Amino acid sequence: MKIKSFVEKAELRRRLVAALREDMLVEPKDATIEQFYRALASTLRDLMGEKRRHFSARTAFRAQKQVHYLSMEFLPGRSMKNSLYNLCLDGVAAEVLSEWEVRLEQLYECEPDAGLGNGGLGRLAACYLDGLATDGFSATGYSILYKYGIFKQKIIDGWQTEQPDYWIPGGDVWLAPRPDQATEVRFGGVVSDWWEAGIHRIEHTGYETVTAVPHDLYVSGYDSEAVSVLRLYQAKSPGVDMEKFNRGDYLGAFGATSVAETISNVLYPNDSHLEGKKLRLRQQYFLSAASVGDIIHRHLSTYGSLDRFAELNAIQINDTHPVLAIPEMMRVLLDDCGYSWERAYDVVTRVFAYTNHTVMAEALEQWDENLMAELLPRIIQIIREINERFCRALKEKHGCSDAAIARMAPVAYGMVRMANLAVAVCHSVNGVSTLHSKIITTDVFPDYYKVAPYKFKNVTNGIASRRWLCQANPGLTALLRETIGEGFLHDFSQLSRFAKYRSDPAVLERVLAVKRENKVRFAGYLREKTGAVISPDAVFDVQVKRLHEYKRQQLNALNIIADYQAIKADPGREFTPRVHIFGAKAAPGYFLAKQIIKLLCTLGQQLEGDRDVAGRLKVVFLENYSVTLSELLMPSADFSQQISLAGTEASGTGNMKLMLGGAITVGTLDGANVEICDAAGMENELIFGMRAHEVGELRAAGYDPGAVYAQDPVLKTALDALVSGELGDRFRELYDALRYTDRYMALADFAAYREAMKRSDGVWLDRRGFAEKSLLNTAASGVFCADRAVMDYARDIWGLDN
Ligand SMILES: *Cc1c(COP(=O)(O)O)cnc(C)c1O
Repeated sequence: MKIKSFVEKAELRRRLVAALREDMLVEPKDATIEQFYRALASTLRDLMGEKRRHFSARTAFRAQKQVHYLSMEFLPGRSMKNSLYNLCLDGVAAEVLSEWEVRLEQLYECEPDAGLGNGGLGRLAACYLDGLATDGFSATGYSILYKYGIFKQKIIDGWQTEQPDYWIPGGDVWLAPRPDQATEVRFGGVVSDWWEAGIHRIEHTGYETVTAVPHDLYVSGYDSEAVSVLRLYQAKSPGVDMEKFNRGDYLGAFGATSVAETISNVLYPNDSHLEGKKLRLRQQYFLSAASVGDIIHRHLSTYGSLDRFAELNAIQINDTHPVLAIPEMMRVLLDDCGYSWERAYDVVTRVFAYTNHTVMAEALEQWDENLMAELLPRIIQIIREINERFCRALKEKHGCSDAAIARMAPVAYGMVRMANLAVAVCHSVNGVSTLHSKIITTDVFPDYYKVAPYKFKNVTNGIASRRWLCQANPGLTALLRETIGEGFLHDFSQLSRFAKYRSDPAVLERVLAVKRENKVRFAGYLREKTGAVISPDAVFDVQVKRLHEYKRQQLNALNIIADYQAIKADPGREFTPRVHIFGAKAAPGYFLAKQIIKLLCTLGQQLEGDRDVAGRLKVVFLENYSVTLSELLMPSADFSQQISLAGTEASGTGNMKLMLGGAITVGTLDGANVEICDAAGMENELIFGMRAHEVGELRAAGYDPGAVYAQDPVLKTALDALVSGELGDRFRELYDALRYTDRYMALADFAAYREAMKRSDGVWLDRRGFAEKSLLNTAASGVFCADRAVMDYARDIWGLDN
């Protein structure tokens, strides 16, 4: 298959030189690396903008359904490498730059990560824009242009500190501002309504207006004609308050500016946890209203009327954060377009679909009705009306009990329950792995499942496989090309052909050699960045993800402590050298999570300073885990730690990135780990611990962590180390949480985990066996490509077949 670059070399050169001369007023021979970075970035941005315009013209001509993906978070990481790769321009760009002795790697290093998300949820959204464009869909992602993205993590004395991530200075070159397409969003004020000649009149007065200015970031499909747009809204005050200004109230006049503009100031750094703050609600409505306005406006400007709107638009809401888009669209149709309630509701139910991302109670969003009434007086009216009609239908049409209705109501007990609102209205509700989608029907929305089982679907998550394989892991990519050809680049299911080589000694050798090269590369990076020295001959055991008790980094830590104690008790024993690599940000207000980071850092130091363990057991905590860091790390992992309590991790995508790079999963049967086992074979992973139903049974029977502690001497000694002082520091709160509550049952799974980790030594020492397992994991990972996930959404939810 011959892949064609998007423009010829001469054209790319011409544009690059023009960007340097005209935008930066510099001759190429005098330009700095930073200037080359900016010039190439703006060149690629403009190329992708042109490509998108051509594509949009074609989709309008064909009346192709538009996909809109609303998400409060997107975590794209860097754009340059991915854009060059997807436009098939990487080789061409390298040649062009070589004329001035500039290397692409130097330019990549200039780019900050666009960190407009916390973790998996935002990264998923970014992966889907890539998959959507590659599959040829016409897609727009909608989010907020946070001035400060996810904080930069700095570890000081083992404790996480947060620094603002002001990414705009290097990131803005990727953004195309569209002030001409700005929309107005209203907050507060008073709504009055009356009937006049049979028409329901609404008047909204005294509101505050915030202008939403879009900035577009393009994501090209890989070797396809499509380009996705990520439309990021910046909040701007519509201007100075002239009335106040004229009265001489200068500060007041500009005060509104700063209040309005705080909306797009910062990303809330919580993951799987709701903080019921007014500003957060303002952010959610800001995004919802701006995107709904834009979607409707774009449709009208192409088709002239809304008659075919529901047929030509699909809106996916990523978790409940943008659910206000539903009442907002009702508002526009009712108040601005004169629709009847029934017609408006019909449109909305056909257009919206909802993805649930968590079963955790603290993450299921609820907003105080009074707060919402104060901030969004018209929206709360519409939500209450939806609620009343919906509850009435439950009673009259479905014969639901009052208790069931109370559980299902979108508004109850003074709270607006965003998930209920989403499930009540949307035509589709999906979980993100088979297990999670099942739990949704049995535990999260069982009443809804009885009433409308047809709404419930599953789309197992997927990742931008080309990013983590072709761009991040060139060694493995080359081996795949040589063995199975290039078809997998367009169709990742073809990775399965790699399995044929499971007994080929030469290929297995290569698998090990590639892994070692990647480990050498990572060790080199680590040494240069931090001074830490790790041996590529040791096992690289990786747990990277947000820090949360349910993900159970503490379980991993307890096992390391137990290993440490075993070595101390018998320094002469055999021990397979292992480096435990962690990376994780904690929500700034989440003390236990921060204490777990402190524990990991303390362990790292303690082990480093102990001559009995030196060179055998190490803990490395990587500062500031990010997309770019993950691209470097994932290909070098031997083992992938996916040890959440069964039933808590909706899917996971880190597990998929690691599997693709040939790491073996040490995991519970949770989220997509279940499907990883199905795909690669249970015998090629290291599975341990309770199943989801066993967790439920244990909880129902009354879980007593103290009893587990008392009965397992290895666990007892390890846990006691948290408060004995033998680690050089004490971790009282963590100790108490584990010993007396242990909400995520780390102690209950400890023995099984330790046994699985012991097995992993054997798996590792059998080099040929390890290579085979590694190869089979890569070969089975094709199903976890975002290209596939997007096709599932298109077929099962959006009613699109391309
Ligand atoms: C993939 C990814 C995640 C998600 O990791 P999980 O293990 O699925 O929780 C989080 N953060 C970053 C930077 C990622 O790339």
